[in-house]
Amino acid sequence: KQIIHIVGNRPQFIKLAVLYKAIAARKIARQLILHTGQHHSQEMSGVFFNDLALPAPDIQLQVENTDPDLFIAHTTRQIQQCLAQEKPGTVIIYGDTNTTHAAAIAAARTGQLLHHFEAGVRTGDLKAPEEINRLLADRLSSVHYCCTMHNLQTLKAEGFGTAITASPVFTGDLMLDAYLKIPEDVSFRPETAPYVACTIHRAENILVKKNLEAIINALNDLHRQIPVIVPLHPHTQKRIAETGATISFRVMPPLGYPQMKAFIKQASFVITDSGGVSREAYFAEKPSLVVMERPVWPEIIRSGAGLTCAPDRDALLQAFMRLAQLTPGYEAALFGYGNAAQHICDHLSDSL
Ligand code: UDP
Repeated sequence: KQIIHIVGNRPQFIKLAVLYKAIAARKIARQLILHTGQHHSQEMSGVFFNDLALPAPDIQLQVENTDPDLFIAHTTRQIQQCLAQEKPGTVIIYGDTNTTHAAAIAAARTGQLLHHFEAGVRTGDLKAPEEINRLLADRLSSVHYCCTMHNLQTLKAEGFGTAITASPVFTGDLMLDAYLKIPEDVSFRPETAPYVACTIHRAENILVKKNLEAIINALNDLHRQIPVIVPLHPHTQKRIAETGATISFRVMPPLGYPQMKAFIKQASFVITDSGGVSREAYFAEKPSLVVMERPVWPEIIRSGAGLTCAPDRDALLQAFMRLAQLTPGYEAALFGYGNAAQHICDHLSDSL
């Protein structure tokens, strides 16, 4: 029995770390890691393999392209060649990135059974590349592991489990497993005073100059009232340099996971457009402002733990002022119980 995990992005390394170790501990199958190289720097990739004690990837692709369509095309081809050679039988993909997209097509073309973790997420915004990746990954997968019951119901409403494929499986969120299992770096104390932990990197927020400027201006304004600290995603850093925007809030290089967990836990509020960071804000019981008109995790907004806003200076500042008045109902099981990896292992043991 053989499983190949196909990953390429920061959040995928974190989810992989939890699942890889659980599968290894239960000796369910031989595991291979294929890294597409989508995130390849030490700070976006290497540090996660080191800190989370993951073995080096068995297969490391090096697709040079920064153009997303060429990346998908070339990566699909290379993954297809690897799968044709390895014939793993089972492929596990994570989330909604271009790596997920390429891996889904390659697995389907080579006849591997595709398992998708984080299935059933929908924002309804087909202009966002992630939404296309989600639809494609779910449609090509045979097995769907869902983080929330809302995701499971979304899939059922689309016909998964009846007209299409077997029933989706509610496992809970591997990100919650990671959050509960991986200790934070207690020595990491970025600021003593109350502060806002912030990350911004979504294409619609950084590639549209007007949106990026509006967000930066709002964060500059906010920083006069409360320190705003942003570990900068390399894409955001590049765009800020290109637009020549002036920044007065505090920036720092991307953090490793244990530092990031400490950073969120010590913050008073979170502002983010990251699916992962908004869930971690929820796990840490921090009110969050999600800078997305259609949030990836509407469950968090419905629970009263977060608000959304458009990438607009006034909208962001006004929404932030309302964060302190939220009366959240943090529901323990919204993202499962922190045993998603065991649920997936149970399913794999029965099905492989
Ligand atoms: N993260 C991190 N260091 C950072 C920023 C994020 O370790 O400087 C972690 C974060 O805690 C979460 C994951 O990366 O676990 C989220 O990844 P990202 O925001 O890149 O992607 P998304 O979740 O939006 O797909």
